[in-house]
Amino acid sequence: MLHSRDFAVFRRQLLDWFRQFRRDLPWRRTRDPYRIWLSEIMLQQTRVAAVIPYYERFVDRFPDIHTLAEVPEEEVLRQWSGLGYYSRARNLQKAARQIVAQHGGQFPTKLDEALALPGIGNYMAAAILSIAYGERLAVLDGNVARVLARLGALRGDLRESRRWQELQKVADAYLDPESPADWNQAMMELGATLCAPKSPQCLLCPVAQFCEGRKLSIAESLPEKRKKRATVEVTLAAVVLRDTNGLTLLLPPSQEKNMQDAPDHIPTLVSRMWHFPTVSVTGNPAQQLRRFLRDFLPVAKHAKFQLEPLGKVRHSVTYRAITIAPFLVNFKQLPRVPNAKRVPLREISSLPVSNLTRKVACAALAAAIPLAKKR
Ligand code: SF4
Repeated sequence: MLHSRDFAVFRRQLLDWFRQFRRDLPWRRTRDPYRIWLSEIMLQQTRVAAVIPYYERFVDRFPDIHTLAEVPEEEVLRQWSGLGYYSRARNLQKAARQIVAQHGGQFPTKLDEALALPGIGNYMAAAILSIAYGERLAVLDGNVARVLARLGALRGDLRESRRWQELQKVADAYLDPESPADWNQAMMELGATLCAPKSPQCLLCPVAQFCEGRKLSIAESLPEKRKKRATVEVTLAAVVLRDTNGLTLLLPPSQEKNMQDAPDHIPTLVSRMWHFPTVSVTGNPAQQLRRFLRDFLPVAKHAKFQLEPLGKVRHSVTYRAITIAPFLVNFKQLPRVPNAKRVPLREISSLPVSNLTRKVACAALAAAIPLAKKR
């Protein structure tokens, strides 16, 4: 922790650097709390470069909280499609509806009201309220925690509850009370650019003279590594039912209320979105899929059908390494399945589906191309 006499110089140097070198990002050209909130949600677990086109399309389509609150969830998921972690989009819309119902469509200005919204925790609330309304709330996320750990040469697992609380106190103490919006963005910018996880660029750092990690030559090794959850292998079999018009069947998102954390929980793996009939397997995928189809498709009980293997698809979701064995089954006419919807296989990429479903659709389309050429 810095000595209090150093605070003024430390703050001035960091703020001057930020104001001179900050990246020009679309959400930095506004003080609209809705847009700042949206950017913060999109930036969770996702790189800035990947977020920019999604952010721009999203604000074009839903320019304010009222518009976002009114549209069907499926429309929001369609705009989010490809960005992943779809619970973020669902919570965003739930919160928008709550803001319309309880705050007249204006993002709340009080911390407790912001924290009562779905998907908003301490970091998010501090970021939005400080940047949009100038509230004196210091942000603490992984980037800022890394900077603070290096500045103070802090060892150990930063996510451990007591250590995280201590870091929050340090972040609160460093916050510039005159410019909380710029201060928080400056800390995040330093963590995202010069003080990146690998190879911190200490020679260019505006606060290098205060950095204990640099003085002890241990900056790059901080923060110390957390124990990673062991990877779990999951095998799935999925079926693409296709008719002669190129239509396929997708099953609806699960309405299950309780979230399960079993590694092979299919609704979780397909991000609770429209998906191909899929089953978790431990033995022969074709045999187990055939058994699954007999239960699930009345027509499959009696009719003979050919399962055409489509190779293997790999995917990962958090700690799970997933191998999917997709199969194609051709029908003259698609069978009736309650609540399923028929969609053109070629158009699946433009629907609100998970990346796993999109990869299976790609495998089916790739297999269909040589067939089409032969005709
Ligand atoms: S001197 Fe290096 S390690 Fe310390 S805060 Fe700056 S970039 Fe990070």
